Amino acid sequence: MRNDPVIYWYRQDLRLSDLPGLAEAVATGRPVLPVYILDDKTPSDWKPGAASRWWLHQSLAALSEQLSSIDGELVFQQGDPSDLIPALARETGATQVFCSGQYEPWAKGLESDLAGLFSRDGSELKVFPGALLCNPESVRNLSGLPYKVFTPFWRACRASGQPAEPVGPLGQSRWYKYPGQGLSLDQLGLLPAKFNWAADWDQIWQPGEQGASDRLRQFIADSLSGYGDGRDYPVRESTSRLSAHLHYGEISPSRVYHTVMGMKAMDASIDADGDKFLSELGWREFSYYLLHNFPHLPEREFKSVFAKFPWAGSPEHYSAWTMGRTGYPIVDAGMRELYATGTMHNRVRMIVASFLCKHLMIDWRAGQRWFWDTLVDADLASNSCSWQWVAGSGADASPYFRIFNPILQSRKFDADGTYLRRWVPELSTLPDRYIHEPWTAPGEVLEAVNLRLGESYPLPIVDHSAARQGALTAYATLKD
Ligand code: FAD
Repeated sequence: MRNDPVIYWYRQDLRLSDLPGLAEAVATGRPVLPVYILDDKTPSDWKPGAASRWWLHQSLAALSEQLSSIDGELVFQQGDPSDLIPALARETGATQVFCSGQYEPWAKGLESDLAGLFSRDGSELKVFPGALLCNPESVRNLSGLPYKVFTPFWRACRASGQPAEPVGPLGQSRWYKYPGQGLSLDQLGLLPAKFNWAADWDQIWQPGEQGASDRLRQFIADSLSGYGDGRDYPVRESTSRLSAHLHYGEISPSRVYHTVMGMKAMDASIDADGDKFLSELGWREFSYYLLHNFPHLPEREFKSVFAKFPWAGSPEHYSAWTMGRTGYPIVDAGMRELYATGTMHNRVRMIVASFLCKHLMIDWRAGQRWFWDTLVDADLASNSCSWQWVAGSGADASPYFRIFNPILQSRKFDADGTYLRRWVPELSTLPDRYIHEPWTAPGEVLEAVNLRLGESYPLPIVDHSAARQGALTAYATLKD
């Protein structure tokens, strides 16, 4: 029996079950050495933001505990994997390293560097699929080029065959006892250092594989039926809240996909809701597909004409937006929800992003950065593609001239103001008819509820109609 270990290099796949590379490592019959390396160097500008680091800490704690319960030990290291993985292989005599593939440009670079390095000395880096439903290399249009529009892309994905079934439970495992000195999870320093803004987040979130499975089960039981309509209303708990679990690979998209397909097969009444939900997973696929094929997306406009866009926004407006003090209740509610919980409902993400790029004329990259730091589900592919979608510069994007009206959006998707009252308590006693645009309330109404606009709650920092016109004029310059 061979006792040299197989190294399993954990990345954004923090689970035990349905993990093809780990299953194969265990199946070799050799002891497995699981390692997680916190790498803040290779991603350069895109190391995880603060909220994402909080999630990562909890997720690693959960994984480490799961491994301990079956006699394994998750080794923590910090630094550049292209140095640390070969060093670990030399130290332990391992000749095989298994991992799941990733699609961020820096992560793909790391995979090819390591594969090259290993092949020179007869060792092996084996990269397994699992992060996506469709291999982005294999979906091409009739001209052999990448799709640039979502609907044909998703149709082609679904026609390319069912995504692989989740792999079965881990077989009989042997774990390698690492004799060296790893770091403790706390030494990775992922938690907030000074002010603990995440003090109550463990009441909101349950990072880790168990939390992900519970979330999926609960979503299917409570909200899959009705998802198609419900998903647009921020106070209804109609969406799955699986995005951070998916980002860190605590659950595979294939498990989510097959579970929903199974429910659809059993109950025809949820067919349309199930398809709508799967198409949202499809948008995740499309984002990764675009990032894989157009790796400049996080930094540069997909439609190059937008590189000339005359962004003119001011630092004061940006600061008001980040703090939830724009004077537009729906925008402020969303930005405050984000800061307080690490997430924001998708409908509201679109509204606040549109407001930043169009009403405030601030470059989408500034919003993308703020989201990167504050979202627990911050994801290079989805965040970059979504911001470009809203800004109008992305693939299959919302046209720039479609400017969300924050007042109408608020009236439509939070008619009685429940969401607004939850996140903007200064407005909680305003009657429903004024809560979406408090500046229209008569003086006596404001006085009766003790609301001093401009003091306890800001007046709008821009006028909607004027801002809309300004954005359209700026957009027209692109056509010249
Ligand atoms: P559900 O409605 O339950 O959807 C199921 C899953 O589908 C999600 O968990 C997610 O993985 C995927 N999904 C849904 N909508 C989208 C979408 N538009 N694009 C890509 N994937 C999608 N999502 C992220 O995961 N990370 C981000 O950093 C991110 N940044 C965004 C920035 C902006 C400006 C906007 C408008 C959207 C962004 N999204 C991002 C997409 C979307 O808002 C979230 O995925 C969704 O709100 C997560 O909630 P949920 O899990 O309850 O979604």
